[in-house]
Amino acid sequence: MSTAPLTFAVHRNANPMPEAERVEAFRNLGFGTLFSDHMAIIDWHADRGWHSPRITARAPFQIDPAGSVLHYAQEIFEGMKAYRDVNGRIVLFRPDENAKRFNASARRMAMPELPEADFLAAIEQLLAVDAAWIPEAEGASLYLRPFMFASEAFLGVRPSREYIFSVIASPVGPYFKGGAKPISIWVSQNYTRAAQGGTGAAKCGGNYAGSLAAQAEASANGCDQVVFLDAAERNWVEELGGMNIFFVMADGSIVTPPLGTILPGITRKSVITLAQDAGIAIEERPYSFAEWQADAQSGRLTEVFVCGTAAVMASVGTVKSAEGSFQIGNGTGGPVTDRLRNTLIGIQRGAIPDPHGWVRVIG
Ligand SMILES: *Cc1c(COP(=O)(O)O)cnc(C)c1O
Repeated sequence: MSTAPLTFAVHRNANPMPEAERVEAFRNLGFGTLFSDHMAIIDWHADRGWHSPRITARAPFQIDPAGSVLHYAQEIFEGMKAYRDVNGRIVLFRPDENAKRFNASARRMAMPELPEADFLAAIEQLLAVDAAWIPEAEGASLYLRPFMFASEAFLGVRPSREYIFSVIASPVGPYFKGGAKPISIWVSQNYTRAAQGGTGAAKCGGNYAGSLAAQAEASANGCDQVVFLDAAERNWVEELGGMNIFFVMADGSIVTPPLGTILPGITRKSVITLAQDAGIAIEERPYSFAEWQADAQSGRLTEVFVCGTAAVMASVGTVKSAEGSFQIGNGTGGPVTDRLRNTLIGIQRGAIPDPHGWVRVIG
C-alpha cells in the first residue's frame, strides 16, 4: 500500500444545477437541505487500502442489503465550513483538526485511518469544482460533510473489510432559525449520551441516533436543544447533542466540562484558546446540574453559551428540566459571550488578525 498522496480523477456532473436556479435557491438557505453538484469518493479495501479517489456527480450509493453499516452502524463523520473571507478568498477553519479527529473517530470505531493529506485533498478537490456553491451572504457558508461507512456485504460481527469515504457539500444559512436570539435547552434526566469507555468522544452516527429521542423530548417541552448529564451519576453536565457548553461566572471566569466522554469540539478548543488570549481564567472541570441551578439562582452564573461548527456560538437563555425551569442572567445573553463570538467570527472571516494561523486559504 502506497503512502504517496492520492490523485483524484475528476468526472464533472453532466447536468449541474443551472446558475439561475442556484441563485434563486441561495435566497432562502436552510440547513442541510440543498446540495452541491459533486461529491468526493475514496474506496478502501482490506487488500488494497485506499484507492480510486474521484470527484463525481453527486448521486446515490449502491449498497448491498447486507452492507455492514446498515446493521452495525460502523460510520463516522466530520462537519466543517468553506466560506469566503472579507477579501473574497475561499477559506477553511482549522481543517487539519477535522482530519485528525476523523482518524481518532476511525480508531475508536475499528475503521481504517485516512492520511490527513488525502482527507484535505478530497475537500480541496471538491471545492475546486463546486466553488460556485459557496454562498456569499453574511453568516452563510458551504457546509462540508466528510464521512465514512462500512460497505462490505457481511452479517458476521467484526470490522468491515470495505469502506467508502465521501465528502458532500451543502450551502447553509444560520443554524438556528431564531438568528442570534438566545436558545432554550432541556436537561435530559431520562436519557444519557455517553458513558466512560463508550463512543462519546467519537464523531459517529450512532451517538446521534441515540440522542434523537432526547431531542424529541426537548422539543416536546418547548426547548431548542437537549443537554446531557453524565451516565454514571446523572449529575455532571456533559454537552448537547451536537455542541459543547460553557458557563460564564460573575467574576469573569469560565467553566467548561472536561474531555473524556464529550466530543472534543474544534470550536470548544478555539474558544478556550481565545479566552486564554483575552486573559480570562478558564477551567475545564466537572460542573454539576445542582451547581448550575444554584449558581443561576445566586447570580454567580451570568452567561451560558454553546458552540460548534454548525451554529458557531449561541447564548442559552432558558434551562428547563422535569424539576422546573430557570433563566441565565436576564435571559438575553451577555458581554463575555458576545466578545468571544465576535473574536472567533472576526478571525474566521479574516476581519481581525489570526494569531494562531487557524484559517487556511484554499483559493
Ligand atoms: C461535532 C460535535 C460538536 C462540535 O464540534 P466542532 O468541532 O466544534 O464542530 C460537539 N458535540 C458533538 C456531540 C459533536 O458531534
